[in-house]
Amino acid sequence: MAFSVIYSPVFLEHRPENYHPENPGRLLRAIKALQRLGLWKPIEPSPVPEEELLTVHTEDYVELVRERSIKFSYLDPDTYVSPGTWEASLLAFGASRTAVEMALKRKGLYLALVRPPGHHAGRSGRAFNAPTLGFCIFNNAAYAAKVAEELTGKVLVIDFDAHHGNGTQEIFWNDNKVVHVDLHERDIYPWSGYEYEVGGNGAEGTKINLPMPHYARDDDYIYAWNEIVLPILAQFKPKLVVISAGFDGFLGENLTTLRLSELFFAYAGSTLSRYPLAVVFEGGYSVGLDKGLPAFIRGYLSGEIREVPVSPSYEALRTVARVKEIHSEWWEF
Ligand SMILES: [Zn+2]
Repeated sequence: MAFSVIYSPVFLEHRPENYHPENPGRLLRAIKALQRLGLWKPIEPSPVPEEELLTVHTEDYVELVRERSIKFSYLDPDTYVSPGTWEASLLAFGASRTAVEMALKRKGLYLALVRPPGHHAGRSGRAFNAPTLGFCIFNNAAYAAKVAEELTGKVLVIDFDAHHGNGTQEIFWNDNKVVHVDLHERDIYPWSGYEYEVGGNGAEGTKINLPMPHYARDDDYIYAWNEIVLPILAQFKPKLVVISAGFDGFLGENLTTLRLSELFFAYAGSTLSRYPLAVVFEGGYSVGLDKGLPAFIRGYLSGEIREVPVSPSYEALRTVARVKEIHSEWWEF
């Protein structure tokens, strides 16, 4: 099974002035994990032309980021830009495009190991009712989805970052060719991603939200994956899957209350092994990078889909039941 990482040291040049959880060290930590797997042979991306940013963002927002990133500043209380941000952003889009193009040429997992992250960035910045951009600048996964949609006619985006991919959902809200399944912790930043958010006019049923209970574990996530994600994958039959890959739900990451382990990430990877994957790096700040990221890759590459017996919590059962009830109009579960 093919595997490549698309990475540029320029991704380290988007950097905070003082301590910030979203910092270049995250990539160095991910690289160490890949080296331990013997899978560190990065491919250099090329930057996209600036106009490509406009496929998923407004001109005003793109200009704002360009102007503000001339020097270090905060766009909002969470999200900074720095002199390296602009160049890193164009390369991150380039890496996301390359991941899609390579995956369509030869089936495998193609990891766009990029910064700054993207899934909270909507068309013109903050998406829906989010108070901030949540460390994100331009939406790399949405761009990957756009490229895949152009090349294959439709695409499935799966976002398992601990936070809702509100930017991605907003960008494709009215697009029925982009199915977006999002698992995340409910009632935390960015305060969206509820069961009843199903897509706009003509795209109803293409946005599937699984707002998982606080303290959810592998059992809850694997249950939701089996009951919702796998049936949608089987019915939608995408030629390629874009993953918004965040590892901040790993036990010990401490940004959320989620308590995931290698088991969920390896299982998720293994169930996707029949599909070409463009994996776009999102969150994950500590132990999730050491353990969750390699588990997902190993799961995909080993391709062993074994049955995992699970005992989900009452709250997880209820969430999944609610999602099934709402989406039974469009999907069979
Ligand atoms: Zn996150």
